[in-house]
Amino acid sequence: MLSVAEATRRILDRARFLGTEEVSLAGARGRVLAASVRAERPLPPWDNSAMDGFAVRAADLAAGPVELPVAGEMVCGSRPGAELPAGAAFRIMTGAPMPAGADAVVMREEVDDRGASARFAGPVPPGEHVRRAGEDVAAGSDVLGPGTGLGPGEIGMLAALGRAVATVGRRPRVAILCTGDELCPVGGEPAPGQIFSSNEHALAAQVAEAGGEVARAELVPDDRARTSAAVAAALDCDVVVTSGGVSVGDRDHVRQALDAAGVAIDFWKVAMRPGKPVVFGTAATGALFFGLPGNPASSLVSFELFVRPALLALQGAVDVARPRTEVVLAGPAHKSPGRAHYLRAVLHRRGERLEAELHAKQGSGMLSSLVGFDALVELAAELGDLPAGARCPALLLRPA
Ligand code: AMP
Ligand code: MG
Repeated sequence: MLSVAEATRRILDRARFLGTEEVSLAGARGRVLAASVRAERPLPPWDNSAMDGFAVRAADLAAGPVELPVAGEMVCGSRPGAELPAGAAFRIMTGAPMPAGADAVVMREEVDDRGASARFAGPVPPGEHVRRAGEDVAAGSDVLGPGTGLGPGEIGMLAALGRAVATVGRRPRVAILCTGDELCPVGGEPAPGQIFSSNEHALAAQVAEAGGEVARAELVPDDRARTSAAVAAALDCDVVVTSGGVSVGDRDHVRQALDAAGVAIDFWKVAMRPGKPVVFGTAATGALFFGLPGNPASSLVSFELFVRPALLALQGAVDVARPRTEVVLAGPAHKSPGRAHYLRAVLHRRGERLEAELHAKQGSGMLSSLVGFDALVELAAELGDLPAGARCPALLLRPA
């Protein structure tokens, strides 16, 4: 059976960049930059003070304690260019431009401020408390590269460079089709034998988190014709994600629907748990098709491993994988060799080690283990039982 790594490689091979669009900074968070951003001006734009205090010529203080007349003032918003006369000081605020001729700032706390004059205790090195023009970002330098995910810091940088819009990868349009006669829409009243369609909402949240846009979300009954029609209609999206109906039961119609819609199936089983039946294929339209199992933990984990990287790659992201780290099992883990296991875990830092407490309920139908987990601990396919203290890789879904 196909390994998770091989399945991922095949998916990423097919996930081609969707092209660009422009977004305002207000809509840029979580988007992926499509082109490098060059600083047209330096940051800071001019020499300025790092402290509230007095701008001086260091040479005027070199001989020891000295009293200098206060000949002017630079505040935030003052135009750069005012000249500091030799043998004088300017009052200056943090962030205000340095007057021409000044080469150091003495902190207010270290000065005896007498109003019209100021007394300095002794020498200061040239450059003290001065932020140089361009010391942060040189004009002409590339500050952000293509494929960078935009978070608060990157957006702050774009704004500091005066960029009101960013060129980013287009959002993938995603269809979510939840199959199952037993499904009741959330907000409805479940008939006897029905359950709420939780996957639809968990998947929609996962799509949004990965920068996609849910263009359609539908419940599809376990009926071959209806499943085929729903799949065919969804192929105008960039990505189609179905939940349920991918096993080999009499009521599992997704695979036949793919054949009917002309979706070329690349694989339909991966050696993993939860989530062995996972279908991946591509349509003639270029749409990527993911058929995920219906069990909630299987749906969530298989989206995490396969759909999320694809959505990021479609947007041109450089990093499509979650950060991995080594964790130490807090208790034993039971498994037989054959499939890789992905176990929901809470992480605790114990000194140097990151300890993974595996959720007690790892069943693929269990929703309680989906609440509040930090990481998916990966037990490689070939491994058997593992004792407490064993070291394993984990995918971090939250910063550890
Ligand atoms: P299936 O993959 O269709 O065989 O479904 C496996 C299990 O997942 C069954 O217990 C289904 O009731 C459940 N299931 C399927 N779809 C959903 C859904 N949208 N929300 C919650 N549970 C689901
Ligand atoms: Mg089903």
